[in-house]
Amino acid sequence: MHNDFEKEIKPLREKIDDIDAEILTLISNRLEEVKKVVALKRRHNMPVFHPAREEDLISKQRSEAQTYGIDPDFIEDIYRVILRNSRLHQAVEMKKQGVRSGSKVLIVGGYGQMGSYFARFFISSGYEVRILSEDNWHEARQLCSDIDLALISVPINVTLETIRRIGPYLPPTALLADLTSIKAAPLNEMLAVHPGPVLGLHPLFGPTCTTLDKQIIAITPGREPQGCQWLIDQLVLWGAIIVNSDANEHDQIMDIVQALRHFATFCFGQFLSRHKIELGRTLEFSSPIYRLEMGMVGRLFAQDSSLYSEIIFATPSRLKILREFVLSLNDQLDMLDNIDKDLFIERFSETARWFGPFSEQALRESTFIINKLIERF
Ligand code: NAD
Repeated sequence: MHNDFEKEIKPLREKIDDIDAEILTLISNRLEEVKKVVALKRRHNMPVFHPAREEDLISKQRSEAQTYGIDPDFIEDIYRVILRNSRLHQAVEMKKQGVRSGSKVLIVGGYGQMGSYFARFFISSGYEVRILSEDNWHEARQLCSDIDLALISVPINVTLETIRRIGPYLPPTALLADLTSIKAAPLNEMLAVHPGPVLGLHPLFGPTCTTLDKQIIAITPGREPQGCQWLIDQLVLWGAIIVNSDANEHDQIMDIVQALRHFATFCFGQFLSRHKIELGRTLEFSSPIYRLEMGMVGRLFAQDSSLYSEIIFATPSRLKILREFVLSLNDQLDMLDNIDKDLFIERFSETARWFGPFSEQALRESTFIINKLIERF
């Protein structure tokens, strides 16, 4: 009986092995073709990410899958992985591509996390990178001579004074830009100290990302857009997605996206720790959503506290909204004391109405992430 089974399954397994070998050959062939696309994009200085082309391809593969009776979500998953992998290949190659190779870039704070991150990109694209740190300001004049770009990447609390200090050394035609997580005050200071092109940048990611593939960089234009365009083109070529905004609008949005988000996470994490919750034990019992939430909370405490304190305490408007958030928690006290379930349901419905159609999207996206988490851990 057992022998019969072995005899029958052997050719089936061999067939599957053959198909797997074919899949590998096809993936390898596809990568070869991708290399040709990269070479062409490099010749024409075209960006890596082509959203319309990717979405067309996914739609086509989804409908093809249906004609084969295969679950379209399954095929989409496979293609998203293939496309991401091919973008990463392209991004690594494009990292070497310079819009203005040979130009001189001075990074102020260039040994710090973000400064050294961008220094690596500029160097691999053939730029001459110079670093101004805390201890070589006596060389500032020399380091600034004939530079094409000065990029400020120092901690938020010393950004304004650093901009004021570097201003007098800059060649008038050099582009002055910064990476600060807040934009209005640094942009105004840059405009005040420098007569040439000025551009504010805020990378919405940290230095742990290996490529700029699909990473968002907010830009806040300052002066002479034509003199700033090459830097934007360079970021796009490295794979970044650029979101343009006014500096004040940027800061207001970051009050929510960064300050409120991180502060609420900080409060939650601190509450757990002060209550001496047995984290490990709760994780053993965790629902996927708790695991995901803990991933987000734990992540904050794995990072640099001073970066977050700078973000949270950056502006008076930020402190105001965080205060309002803390006070708003008191509103819930009466509801709890009175065991007022109706009030809870009323507040829940009111908030759900405010979220509107985004709730559906949020459910879809978080389900996707949860499934990925379960697949991996
Ligand atoms: P960091 O502390 O790692 O680096 C700052 C560097 O500036 C350090 O090397 C420090 O020695 C140097 N420095 C301090 N004072 C200086 C001075 N007067 N002159 C010259 N150099 C000086 O900080 P970071 O995380 O790289 O942040 C730099 C900027 O990037 C900040 O404005 C921050 O808001 C922004 N940013 C950071 C992140 C992130 O995830 N780290 C993300 C987006 C934006």
